[in-house]
Amino acid sequence: MLKKIGLDKLGGLAAALMEKGPLYAPVRDEKAVNFQAIQDPAAVTLDFYNTALSPKFVFFPQSEDLIRYRLEKGNAEAEAVPIAVAPSVLFGVRPCDVQSFAIMDRHFLGAGIIDPYWKERRDKTVVVGFAFDPSLPPDPADFYNTLAIQAADPSGSDVFMVKKDGDLLLKGITEKGEALLKGLAVLEAAATADEAFFDETLRKGREVKTRFAEIKDTEIAGKLTGIFEKTAFWEEVSAACISCGACTFVCPTCYCFDINDETLFRKGARKRFWDACMFTDFTLEASGHNPRPRIFQRYRQKVCHKYSYHVTKYGCISCVGCGRCTRSCPVNIDIFSIVEKAAKL
Ligand code: SF4
Ligand code: SF4
Repeated sequence: MLKKIGLDKLGGLAAALMEKGPLYAPVRDEKAVNFQAIQDPAAVTLDFYNTALSPKFVFFPQSEDLIRYRLEKGNAEAEAVPIAVAPSVLFGVRPCDVQSFAIMDRHFLGAGIIDPYWKERRDKTVVVGFAFDPSLPPDPADFYNTLAIQAADPSGSDVFMVKKDGDLLLKGITEKGEALLKGLAVLEAAATADEAFFDETLRKGREVKTRFAEIKDTEIAGKLTGIFEKTAFWEEVSAACISCGACTFVCPTCYCFDINDETLFRKGARKRFWDACMFTDFTLEASGHNPRPRIFQRYRQKVCHKYSYHVTKYGCISCVGCGRCTRSCPVNIDIFSIVEKAAKL
């Protein structure tokens, strides 16, 4: 089913979606466009290339309470925080970010232990993907073609959207997506010419060329294992790194977290927080020993986790080539160039 709405009515569409439950959508602030839980439907924008931060927080919040507790003399009471998630819509996700959810699913749902927080949010959320404009060049940092992702690839989305002049075309891809579109009276039926435009955009999306390298999962995994001990290589590629962790926090496929207790006046919460392998104390042990005290060791870990260990454990590379780590790195470290260089060694 293909539907459409004028882009000048985007606020009306957002308002209609909010009637169905929480809406997460791109909003522009003074610095960037990012996904937010929408309060004002007029704030939603589809006038952006990609968001500075990935939308992963919708399924994996940067911080969340797992348990709340009270400490009394000689006694402690604790209760799990219920996972109460209303059916939600995540609107305007670029194809590379949509693919990141499937990679994260392998870890949070396929590792033998199902993460109930991730699962509940994934199950209850309709993902509305949004094609890159194939008439515009991709951002120079992007390399999603290397990971077999195309600029207007609808796979993984429940609904997929394409801009057509002053209109927005929306196609149901899954049953969940079709059901969402059926319940939106603000949408009009699309014309035959719109169907042709939608299909043509998907075709043109396959012609958009991002940076590309011939990287095969098992080959690069083996290559990185082989150069693990080549300290000179890892020192050279990470020489400028300041271990700030920005590349991991913006990444749609970084999933490391820590768990801490925060207590105040005998009441507290056990919280899960995002963590980052680039931080100095990520592997600091209680004894004071740190197996990765040097920056090159931490950067090597990050690259090898994504392009080697993840292949061995889950059968796929844990990167979608979104380019965010390159765009956000204060010293211009570029994972694509490093992987490409490693592949040629
Ligand atoms: S490693 Fe970089 S390019 Fe790959 S998914 Fe993460 S942020 Fe995007
Ligand atoms: S963003 Fe750049 S400087 Fe910061 S940890 Fe990542 S690679 Fe290092």
